[in-house]
Amino acid sequence: MQPLNRTDCEALDLADPLRQFRDRFHLPQGLIYLDGNSLGAMPKSVPARIARLLEAEWGDDLIRGWTKDGWMDLPLAIGAKIGSLIGAGEDETVVADSTSVNLFRVLGAALKLRPDRRVILSERTNFPTDLYIAQSLAAMMGADYTLRLVETDEIEAALSPDIAVVMLTQVDYRTGRQWDMKRITALAHRAGALTVWDFSHSAGVVPLDFDGDEADFAVGCGYKYLSGGPGAPAFLTIARRHLRPTEMPITGWLGHAEPFAFEPGFRAAEGIGRARVGTPPILSLAALEVGVDLVCEATVPALRAKSIRQTELFAALAAQELDGFGFSLASPAAAGQRGSQVSMRHVHGWPITQALTAANVIGDFRAPDIVRFGFAPLYVRYVDVWDAVAALKRIMVERQWDQPQFRAAPTGVT
Ligand SMILES: *Cc1c(COP(=O)(O)O)cnc(C)c1O
Repeated sequence: MQPLNRTDCEALDLADPLRQFRDRFHLPQGLIYLDGNSLGAMPKSVPARIARLLEAEWGDDLIRGWTKDGWMDLPLAIGAKIGSLIGAGEDETVVADSTSVNLFRVLGAALKLRPDRRVILSERTNFPTDLYIAQSLAAMMGADYTLRLVETDEIEAALSPDIAVVMLTQVDYRTGRQWDMKRITALAHRAGALTVWDFSHSAGVVPLDFDGDEADFAVGCGYKYLSGGPGAPAFLTIARRHLRPTEMPITGWLGHAEPFAFEPGFRAAEGIGRARVGTPPILSLAALEVGVDLVCEATVPALRAKSIRQTELFAALAAQELDGFGFSLASPAAAGQRGSQVSMRHVHGWPITQALTAANVIGDFRAPDIVRFGFAPLYVRYVDVWDAVAALKRIMVERQWDQPQFRAAPTGVT
């Protein structure tokens, strides 16, 4: 086979049915951004949307905005749109709070549906906040509740009769490995357990069939592939069959059947509205909706098709250009088994990532040795994939990473 070159990548961009979406994002000139899985890029129409909200809605409409401008319905309206991206029905998803807090709430709800069982099962390598949340919930539920952690390949064998809930992140943040949601859900149900899925690295880029796979509960992030902005509100999804029996562990007035009746006792709203707690963050929701609308317009199947081609291209170019430099693939080799990222291990992963950033290529590093590249197909071009690998090759050939400013120990968020 002929080696791939930059012209091949330009041809792929020309033939890309999603190519016009890139123009709808603000991206700094000359920057190659392969971190949309950590913070999605800003859609260009966000500033105008926020300005309109500030001036015409908050400014002029004031309190009337809650009805006149549809503020009160935004969490459910955007929830329905996100639901359509993850295979959930109309009234199963609501936007609220953060992924961490939503996880606490759905885990608590799920545990209450399995009152005879005391164990939350997860994998040791799950995203730490998910584990911390489960630990804090178990501690609050009582001394006999525990979070049981096993290795990834031990999950199926660990489905013993004491498991109340299996809690997994559908696409692993480090390796990009995907769980087969249908299979694990079926096995969990056969063992009498419920499932809680974290779609943070899946929503908006990986096709999901929440209803079809008979999943029970899910949460996910608004600021990654959904491009909702830094700290965007997250979502939570509850299968319709669980809605009525579900008791949320935190009940607030907006989850009440009639919030403005101001009754002293809680009565849950019908449907997913019962999972609301307090007054929604309208400024943040307005920004999130712009990103979600772009994903809906592009459609997840089209995004997935491009994402697969991009991760395959990256893996092929890495094999072609970086052979002998000490990288090994940390993601599954088959594109169908990973999300929209490719991760590579390297003993010098941290300084390499730093040198890449200095070269205007933003990926990220996850300890101890993973260099991670996310491909947000709404705005990443095929030539970006080429240019990123070319920059990486230059850094390796010239040993650019081996400089004191890049070798300083990792600090904070990158
Ligand atoms: C990004 C991410 C989160 C983020 O949680 P926050 O509450 O928004 O900080 C949680 N879980 C997983 C798996 C993630 O990838």
